[in-house]
Amino acid sequence: MSNQRLNKKIPTIDEIQKEFEDFVKRKYGGTVNFTMSQAKPNTTTTDDTSAATPEKKAFDLKFDLKPKAVKQYLDRYVIKQDDAKKALAIAVCDHYNHVREVHENPKIADIDYSKQNIVMLGPTGVGKTYLIRHIAKLIGVPFVKADATRFSETGYVGANVDDMIRDLVTQADKDIELAQYGIIYLDEVDKIATPPNIIGRDVSGRGVQIGLLKLMEETEVDLRAGYDAASQMQAMMEFQQKGVVEKHIINTRHILFIISGAFNGLKDIINKRINQNSIGFNATVKSQTALADPFQLVTPQDFIEFGFEPELIGRLPVHVVCRNLSAADLYHILKHSEGSIIRQYERAFGAYGIEVLFSDEGLYRIAEAAHVQETGARALMTVCEKTLREYKFELPSSNIREFVVTEKVVEDSRGELQKILENMDYNRQTVMRERVRRFEADFRREHQMQIQFDDEATELLCQKAVDQGRGPKEICQELLQSYQHGLNLIKQNTGQSMFMFTEEVVEAPDTVLELWIRESYAAKSKEEGKEEGKV
Ligand code: ADP
Repeated sequence: MSNQRLNKKIPTIDEIQKEFEDFVKRKYGGTVNFTMSQAKPNTTTTDDTSAATPEKKAFDLKFDLKPKAVKQYLDRYVIKQDDAKKALAIAVCDHYNHVREVHENPKIADIDYSKQNIVMLGPTGVGKTYLIRHIAKLIGVPFVKADATRFSETGYVGANVDDMIRDLVTQADKDIELAQYGIIYLDEVDKIATPPNIIGRDVSGRGVQIGLLKLMEETEVDLRAGYDAASQMQAMMEFQQKGVVEKHIINTRHILFIISGAFNGLKDIINKRINQNSIGFNATVKSQTALADPFQLVTPQDFIEFGFEPELIGRLPVHVVCRNLSAADLYHILKHSEGSIIRQYERAFGAYGIEVLFSDEGLYRIAEAAHVQETGARALMTVCEKTLREYKFELPSSNIREFVVTEKVVEDSRGELQKILENMDYNRQTVMRERVRRFEADFRREHQMQIQFDDEATELLCQKAVDQGRGPKEICQELLQSYQHGLNLIKQNTGQSMFMFTEEVVEAPDTVLELWIRESYAAKSKEEGKEEGKV
């Protein structure tokens, strides 16, 4: 009989899964759904949960970045947060230099090394995750983000902190070694704080903290979660096939942990401490500093009072503060960040052959509308979506091929859309005016001189463009052919670097320029005469 069993073909996992599914279907008639890939709770932003059969790959960590280079890279995407960028750049360079040294020479005793795990403090939507995501991308290591609120101590109710480690392997394309150098970013950790003064403290929050501490210290995580039916079944199958179950283990020693949160209430703790300490000694000065930016002065003791385990805070030596973003910062994000969402809109409209031009005033209005929502840069997307949704729907089926997101579009999106659709001239004028504004901006960038066509001059330029059937940019370029040199002369003579262009400039550019140059020489000699007089 045993021989018979041995000769029987061992089913594959897919076959077993199919049989289970058929069985459940027969028994419950479609009211219960059984799919093995759903057995594991989805805890993080990764969507692939098949970390069960990892691969060993030859891994070579080539880290040779310097903190300044890291910051410069972050500057391309992240606006403001300069202190945070610096602190992070230093911490990740220290960490990965150390990792590289140990990687190259495992004999290096790293007993005395304390890992540069990081706590990030700051309100929502100001770039905390964005910074870390870009750091991970720059270094080329996997990155996993999870919310602390979704974890429970055991993993039976919510998810288990170990799941983050497993997800790193998935993110690393099952390359365990690479996953061991990954970055784990745990958001909303302030929600698992357990202030000691609350009666009946939240045991589960404390349990999650202890779980985290273990990961940070160094532990080995089995890639098969105990509660994960799918991977347990896979282990069972492996045992049947090979007689042993190969253990896939990931070591957390070199994983960089970053925890973050808004930490509401922590500022009060810091201020209270500072005020207490400063009574009678330089009191006003100290408390004023604290009020301006209390997070800068946070100490481990403050975190403990807030509700963190001392051992956990001891493992997080780097404190990074991200600040609120002003409306002007949000404008800069839209205008200058390489990851700005307006590129997304340009591409979305571009797909229908429509060019969308965001005017500076329009961008500023979006930034202001987003700012009042108090969700940082996240609100930019909400405002843009609300503003442009109808445009995305209507314009692809119209004959509009270009349009401008003006201040009015942001303020009265539907009203302006109606105007654009009904009045071709209105839209054409708006687009032309925006093109003149862009010419001015390009001129400023290229020649370090500010020029501006006033309203009448702009109208006249647009009229010329219509009459001649050419673009306003071409008209401007032709008009101002000799201006670059001429304005430079004036700048040398008088120091003037801002020039307002009126209708006369558009009508007779060379005559006006000649006059301006003559006047500048006259002003210069007068100035020189005065100087000589003084001597
Ligand atoms: P949080 O601080 O809550 O982690 P995120 O970093 O996830 O916020 O920010 C949400 C989005 O807003 C980012 O994906 C990014 O597009 C944008 N963003 C936030 N802050 C900045 C910033 N300082 N510079 C550029 N973009 C930013």
